[in-house]
Amino acid sequence: MASGRIRRVLVAGGGIGGLAAAVALQRKGFEPLVFERAESLRDGGAGLHVWTNGVIALDRLGLADEVLKTAPAQQTCHFSTWRGETLGAWPVGDFVERYGRPTIAVERSVLHGVLADALEGAPLRTGAQVTGFTQDQDGVTVRFADGQTERGTC
Ligand SMILES: Cc1cc2nc3c(=O)[nH]c(=O)nc-3n(C[C@H](O)[C@H](O)[C@H](O)COP(=O)(O)OP(=O)(O)OC[C@H]3O[C@@H](n4cnc5c(N)ncnc54)[C@H](O)[C@@H]3O)c2cc1C
Repeated sequence: MASGRIRRVLVAGGGIGGLAAAVALQRKGFEPLVFERAESLRDGGAGLHVWTNGVIALDRLGLADEVLKTAPAQQTCHFSTWRGETLGAWPVGDFVERYGRPTIAVERSVLHGVLADALEGAPLRTGAQVTGFTQDQDGVTVRFADGQTERGTC
């Protein structure tokens, strides 16, 4: 990479992982571009447990407090079989004292929305299905279902 050049990072998928990666990359001075195959960002979905390590990751992005506004801290997580037999129970409420952040239950759409809102500019393209990529010395060329290509740098 030539010194001072902004690196353009291409991210396939605008789910929670892709958006979180893009926010983190922007925070570090990269230029991410997210490609989502759906025509719009999904805003549905049910509740999601984000364990303490995930909340700490959100903290690193400066987004934990925003998410915690609507996400209750969990005291115990139970894992059961479909018959209702308990497989295990974890006292996740203790994590706050041990690690400083809770394990939470959050609506997927809320988490997704907080991440999408945190992106600066318009680094997101919907209706863009990645079908493959080719890497070379200078970067990567990503191919899309409609035949177009996009170039990322390294
Ligand atoms: C029923 C259920 C319950 C779950 N509960 C939890 C939970 O409580 N806690 C937890 O941490 N996790 C849970 N998970 C897992 C959860 O789905 C993942 O943690 C999270 O969604 C992963 O985010 P992701 O961005 O990697 O993937 P996804 O959310 O699946 O996002 C991937 C995105 O990439 C897009 N995409 C895929 N292929 C392409 C392509 N070729 N080109 C462009 N875009 C593409 C998709 O359209 C999608 O928007 C659960 C999963 C299920 C199914």
